[in-house]
Amino acid sequence: MRGMTPEREAQYRDGMRAAAAVGAAILRAGGSALDAATAAMVDMEDGGVFNAGLGSCLTTAGTVEMDAAVMRGSDRAIGAVAGVAELANPILAARAVMEHTPHCLLAAEGALAFARDQGLERRTDFPPAHRRAEWESKRATLEARAAGKSVEQGLAELGGVLGAQEDDPLGGDDHHDTVGAVAMDAQGRLAAAVTTGGIWLKMPGRVGDSPLPGAGFWAVDGHGAAVATGTGEYLMRVMICHEAVHFMRAGDDAQTACEAVVALLESEFGPDQGGLIAIDPQGRLGWAINTHGMGRAAWHAGMAEPAVAVWPEDDWDRPL
Ligand code: ASP
Repeated sequence: MRGMTPEREAQYRDGMRAAAAVGAAILRAGGSALDAATAAMVDMEDGGVFNAGLGSCLTTAGTVEMDAAVMRGSDRAIGAVAGVAELANPILAARAVMEHTPHCLLAAEGALAFARDQGLERRTDFPPAHRRAEWESKRATLEARAAGKSVEQGLAELGGVLGAQEDDPLGGDDHHDTVGAVAMDAQGRLAAAVTTGGIWLKMPGRVGDSPLPGAGFWAVDGHGAAVATGTGEYLMRVMICHEAVHFMRAGDDAQTACEAVVALLESEFGPDQGGLIAIDPQGRLGWAINTHGMGRAAWHAGMAEPAVAVWPEDDWDRPL
């Protein structure tokens, strides 16, 4: 991520600001936190800039398998999908699971069939050229590392590939590009939404933290809401979002809670594993990472447009 070009960083900042503005418009008009968070994710899925929807990263087989989830804080309603292909907006499929099934999480073919029944838009133009090019170069690096073995075998032998170390063949933490939103509306209701292509060169069938309650997202009115990004294999083992909300429920502000759970993540699994954003019941925002950067956008009533930041040392580019 640190190596991103100025053009890419500008796209990133614009994409985050635009998505947050979509959510802000809904909140400004008196809409729900859930609608705002969902709409922001649709915008990011459609843009192709982030690791979600059109911009999803690819599996070892060069295919797209997306995960997404929503949670409504007022009644702990959850909808999620895992391992879905050929869908323009996995977040809308997750929302439909919440609203039109008795279940919380649908996966793979069943999820896709359900989404089609719901009339959700199909998308078959994956991957865009820039993702295909990234896939080719990452796969070539892995192949070279694996010295003639299959990529799958190479991945297994590398083991630490998920660790995003300096010599990470997947290119450092630039594969942690999942997008998520937390929101509070005028009624004080909370929501969380998250959508992702997962991690680069994951095994087909691999599901990360994002569609898993407590790991990739969590929201309970009066307690707090959080969404995570990073290496799902580790985030799910500390239940990072549930843990953050637990701290907020116990009285921590969102910032303190985020820092506490990233410290926990790092103490268990080392540096460069991920981060999260959160909102507490007082509407205060928090974020923390132990990676090189994480794009973030923020808006609250009274702000003309959302503020954004990318690097750990960045101040918000508009006053909050
Ligand atoms: N957390 C996601 C996953 O492991 C990846 C990401 O944050 O980009 O699937």
